[in-house]
Amino acid sequence: MTATAARTRHAELVAQIRAHDHAYYVLAQPTVSDSEYDRLYRALVDLERQFPELLTPDSPTQRVGGAPLDKFKPVRHSQPMLSLDNTYSPAELIEFVQRVQRLLPNKTLEWTVEPKVDGVAVTLRYEQGLLTLGATRGDGATGDDVTANLKTVRSVPLRLLVPPASTHTRNAPQQELFDPARGPAVALPTLIEVRGEVFMTKSGFAQLNAQRAAASEETFANPRNATAGALKQLDPRVTAARPLDLIVYGAGRSEGWSAPGRQSELLERLRALGLKTPEHCWLCRSTDELLAAIADLDRRRADLGYETDGAVIKLNSFALRQQCGATAKAPRWAIAYKYAAAQAQTRLRRITVQVGRTGALTPVAELEPVTLAGSTISRATLHNADEIRRKDIRVGDHVLIEKAGEVIPAVVKALTEKRTGQEQVFPFPKSCPECGSRISRDSTAGEANVVWRCTNPDCPAQVRGRLEHWCARSAMDLEGGGEALIVQLVKTGLVRDVADLYRLRLDELAALERMGEKSARNFLASIEASKTRDLWRLIFGLGILHVGAGVAKSLARHFASLDDLLEASHKTLSQIDDVGDVIAASVHAWCNDPDHRRLLERLRQAGLNLRSELYAPAATARPWAGKTFVLTGTLPTLTRDQATAQIEALGATVASSVSKKTDYVVAGAEPGSKLDKAHKLGLRILDEAEFLRLCREAAGPR
Ligand code: AMP
Ligand code: ZN
Repeated sequence: MTATAARTRHAELVAQIRAHDHAYYVLAQPTVSDSEYDRLYRALVDLERQFPELLTPDSPTQRVGGAPLDKFKPVRHSQPMLSLDNTYSPAELIEFVQRVQRLLPNKTLEWTVEPKVDGVAVTLRYEQGLLTLGATRGDGATGDDVTANLKTVRSVPLRLLVPPASTHTRNAPQQELFDPARGPAVALPTLIEVRGEVFMTKSGFAQLNAQRAAASEETFANPRNATAGALKQLDPRVTAARPLDLIVYGAGRSEGWSAPGRQSELLERLRALGLKTPEHCWLCRSTDELLAAIADLDRRRADLGYETDGAVIKLNSFALRQQCGATAKAPRWAIAYKYAAAQAQTRLRRITVQVGRTGALTPVAELEPVTLAGSTISRATLHNADEIRRKDIRVGDHVLIEKAGEVIPAVVKALTEKRTGQEQVFPFPKSCPECGSRISRDSTAGEANVVWRCTNPDCPAQVRGRLEHWCARSAMDLEGGGEALIVQLVKTGLVRDVADLYRLRLDELAALERMGEKSARNFLASIEASKTRDLWRLIFGLGILHVGAGVAKSLARHFASLDDLLEASHKTLSQIDDVGDVIAASVHAWCNDPDHRRLLERLRQAGLNLRSELYAPAATARPWAGKTFVLTGTLPTLTRDQATAQIEALGATVASSVSKKTDYVVAGAEPGSKLDKAHKLGLRILDEAEFLRLCREAAGPR
């Protein structure tokens, strides 16, 4: 290919991919199949490898790049990023409207109502359409330069679209929505600072937490903390692996275009530039209309893919906003209306601190039981030590608890007006409550998610956690190895690590409390059976940081045996599917720890299978590589595990929830809500017979 031809081809590919990205991530209306998209993307990567001079910073291949930073550069905002004042009732809202009306006598006021997206505020600077800077709000005057992290967010355009000219003139809409298709003619501004909220969708958050739990990592308390943690990462590759999204709702400085005069117009223009704006917006001209819009949004809130904690009410006209001005903290022309979360009051009896298998200390509020959103709550999370201090929550306090969205119940605040003086400040343990060892502070998941960890690998709580994980059905599947038995095994000193399980004798087991000879024999039988489990289960069962079942399977596909895995270099590991730098480092360090080597040696001596049935060198066909299946209901003949094994053997993955990215849903008797969702999304749904036929076709003649 000549250099000129390459340049033309490059421009074509970039334009196509950019348009597909926009359709998929911004409009949620995919225009190509995944495989077609992958083909275009690979073609672009190849072309840029051949002609490196074509590589530009706004190429779709440049979302994840660059080395990790040492720290973030501070960014001074050209216009302050203000906060919003809050209202909690219609009366307060009416007061706000009257206040603004007094500032603007004789003016007819028009308002917009938008969802208040519960995420992290950011600003994005585009110069000549090119993304040149992305920053967090920080203290409002100065934030952090997180450009590299924001580039990994697929709904953040690296280059703005040049908006199509349109001759349409618009009538002022009534209540609902600004239609992008009717957008006015817009030119590309030479400079624009766009403001919006980075957030995690509810499903992305649930999936991330499930993955983290499976990989022995701390879970996040809510999507906002998870988002803040993701943006705080100095290595953009870590951010890239987190499901972040962006919605924009405003602009700071802008130059070189005929600037819009109203919020409603601004949103249309931003949308025409390829940015994602709130999917619901209302225009209102009276307090009645405002209250109706707020109520309408409240009804739709559950169906939005992300958490919202209120509505934002803004004066539509920018000229009138100017006249209102702002306080040091917030504009006078806008206000947030906060929806009440399901809340209840109760008394905090005690705080207990649990030690997990990674040594993390989690404080838990033990409450006087109370009903909240239909269920009885007697425990709520206090997240971490910092949170107890920040909120000054004391033992004996009356507390407000809340359950919002998908999130576990949490203590919102102490009701200090109800204090009697008998309340006690909780002395967060200075050492592990389980074993008394030193604890250390871990802030790798961001300052909002600081964890204290017990540093003693022999801590009984950690030992129990590791044994439970090993025995779990999703790992080595040792029937009978539940919590009660493990507590005894550890307490009596019979078992200190997973290898000790394989030396247990019948008489030792039978002598334990509540353990007859029959249960002892059964447990020995399941220990024996676990020796033949496939290698991926063993790798997962070891509980290596960052190694969930999915990663364990990738490793088992790549290595024929445990010995091959143990010999692998960091570099080899990092090139395996699903295994990035961070996971590779974790696996490599774990495998090269002498204590771990001894443990594995003892497992080998005990006769455990160390060969991988999943082993599939790259040359073997994986006809379903890249495809995703979801299983729901009970199949007539296959168990879940058998169906999963068949799917994985052909190279596809099994996901736990249905999304646009699901290729097939296999449904049996009594399917769950997954099936309804699959119908809604128009996915291909198979029964067992169709599924097996598809498997046979894919496997080809034998
Ligand atoms: P607060 O953090 O409670 O003071 O609320 C102000 C923040 O709300 C802003 O800094 C934004 O991050 C966020 N926000 C979320 N959605 C919107 C929206 N539609 N318009 C303006 N601000 C929003
Ligand atoms: Zn401990």
